[in-house]
Amino acid sequence: MDSGNLKKAALFHGHVCPGLAIGVRVAELALKEFFPNRPQDEEIVAVVENDSCAVDAIQLLTGCTLGKGNLILKDYGKQVYTFIKRPEGPKKSKAAGEAIRISVDLRPPEESPKEKEMWRRFSEGDRAEEVVKAVHARRSKKIKAIMKASDDELFRVNRLNTRPPCRARVVPSVRCEKCGEKTMETKMGLTGGRKLCRPCFEKETSCRN
Ligand SMILES: [Zn+2]
Ligand SMILES: [Zn+2]
Repeated sequence: MDSGNLKKAALFHGHVCPGLAIGVRVAELALKEFFPNRPQDEEIVAVVENDSCAVDAIQLLTGCTLGKGNLILKDYGKQVYTFIKRPEGPKKSKAAGEAIRISVDLRPPEESPKEKEMWRRFSEGDRAEEVVKAVHARRSKKIKAIMKASDDELFRVNRLNTRPPCRARVVPSVRCEKCGEKTMETKMGLTGGRKLCRPCFEKETSCRN
């Protein structure tokens, strides 16, 4: 574990939080166990099953990013992160690649009745000084626990073979017939014989009660 990574991630993300700490640990484990040389291109694909703070640390530290197309979000609301190596060779788009699936299985530190009470007041909107202080302390305790835990305490890790998601294809853009903005043709919808961008399509086809 390298607390320098948490600092780096916090600069990118904007604050330190337990979710970010989880992302740092996931990235560190993937880099250590699966691709020790941080990928310079998109040969590693990350599939993340939530859109939490953790994903920012993963993008920064592993180089798997949304913009490059080698970070795929499956919005399942699960703390599961899978890294897949794209297979080399002629049949590469159909072949399965080696993968590591990291599932976060964190048991949070036991809380005292006082801590629970403070958290309850905070979540009900109470911002009294003692409440805010207690909530901050609770959060730092959680971050420390995450950064200190062993990989075994924090994760369930599986090795598997799976097909990486298809590469993003480059498709031509055409103008939406309602707003006139250029849109990737594969993302458009057809209604009343007109090809519309998604927002226009949704406005056009939503029911107006
Ligand atoms: Zn955060
Ligand atoms: Zn439009």
